[in-house]
Amino acid sequence: MLKRSKEEVILLMLSGLSIPSILPFGIIRLVQRNWLLAAVDMAIVLGMMGIWVFVWRTRKVRFAGIAVTIFYSVGMLASIYVKGQPIVYWVYPTMIAAFFILKAREALFINTVSVLLLIVILSQQMALLDLSSVVVTLILINLFSYIFSHSTSLQHTELHHQADNDFLTGIGNRRAFDRKLAEICQTGNVQTSACLFLLDLDHFKSINDRLGHAVGDQVLVQFCHLIRSRIRAVDGFFRYGGEEFVLITVGSDMAAANNFAEELRALIERSVLIPDYQVTVSIGVAKLTEADSADTWVKRADAMLYEAKQSGRNTVRMAT
Ligand code: GH3
Ligand code: MG
Ligand code: MG
Repeated sequence: MLKRSKEEVILLMLSGLSIPSILPFGIIRLVQRNWLLAAVDMAIVLGMMGIWVFVWRTRKVRFAGIAVTIFYSVGMLASIYVKGQPIVYWVYPTMIAAFFILKAREALFINTVSVLLLIVILSQQMALLDLSSVVVTLILINLFSYIFSHSTSLQHTELHHQADNDFLTGIGNRRAFDRKLAEICQTGNVQTSACLFLLDLDHFKSINDRLGHAVGDQVLVQFCHLIRSRIRAVDGFFRYGGEEFVLITVGSDMAAANNFAEELRALIERSVLIPDYQVTVSIGVAKLTEADSADTWVKRADAMLYEAKQSGRNTVRMAT
C-alpha cells in the first residue's frame, strides 16, 4: 500500500483526535440534559467520524480539508453562540489548525469569515474592550500563521525545484529523468511513440583542458539553452551526467525522430558556443518498443551513441 501523504496523516489525526476530545463533553451535556450543546458536540463527533472514514478510504485530502475546516469553524461558532464567552479559547487552536490543513489563503479566508461572525455573536455578550482584545489577538494569530504557512510553502516549492533540477543548466536532473522514464515505461502502459535521444558533447575534456573549467561550464549552459529553444514543452530534457544529456520526445515515428536529431546536431555544429572553437555533439536515438524495459531502452540508445562516437563523432545514429 502507498505511504500516506503528510496531508492525509494530519487530517486523519485531527479528525481522529477530535472524536475522543469532544465526545466526553457531549456525554456530560447529555447527562446534564443540556440538549442543544449535546446536539452540537455530537454533530461534530459524527461529522469528524465521517471525514475520518472518507479520508481513510478515498485518500482525497482536498475536499476533506475544506470540509473539516468549515465543520470545525461552524461547530465552534455554534458552541460559542450557545455557551457564550467561556468557549472563546477554543477559537485559537481551531484557527491555527486551519493553516495546517489548507493553503494559507484559503485558511485566512475561512478564519476571516469566522472572526466576523464571532464579532456578531459576542457583541451581545462582551464588553467592547474585552471583545476588542479577542479580535486583535485573533488577527495577530492569523497574521503570524499566514506568514509562517506562506513562507513554508515557498520553501517547499524551492526545495522541490532544487531536488529535480540541475543547478548549473537549470534543466531536469538525473532524478527527474529516472522518474519520467519510469512513468513512460509503466508496465502495461508503454507509450510506444516515445523516442530517447542521448546527446554527448564531443571531446569536451579538451575544452576544459585548453580553456578552463569555467568556460566548459558556460558551454554546457549555452548548449542547453540552444536545445531548449528547439524542443516542445511536452518533451523532457535532462542532464544525464557530466556532458551527457537525454531528451525524451513523444508522438514521432523513427524517420521524424532521426530528422529531429539531425537538426539538433546541425544546430550545435553551426552555432558559436565559444569564439574560435567548434563544439559538436554526437547523438544516439532509440524508439521505445513493446519489448523494451526502461533499462534496455536506455542501453539501446547508449549503444547508438557509442556507434556515433566510433564513426567519427558529430553524428547521429538511430537504433533500428
Ligand atoms: P567524447 O567525445 O568521447 O565524449 O570525449 P569527452 O572528452 O567529451 O568525454 P570524457 O568522458 O573523456 O570527458 C568528459 C569531461 O566532461 C570530463 C569532465 O571533466 C567534464 N565534465 C563533466 N561535468 C562537467 C561540468 O559540470 N563542468 C565542466 N566544465 N566539465 C565537466
Ligand atoms: Mg563527451
Ligand atoms: Mg560522456
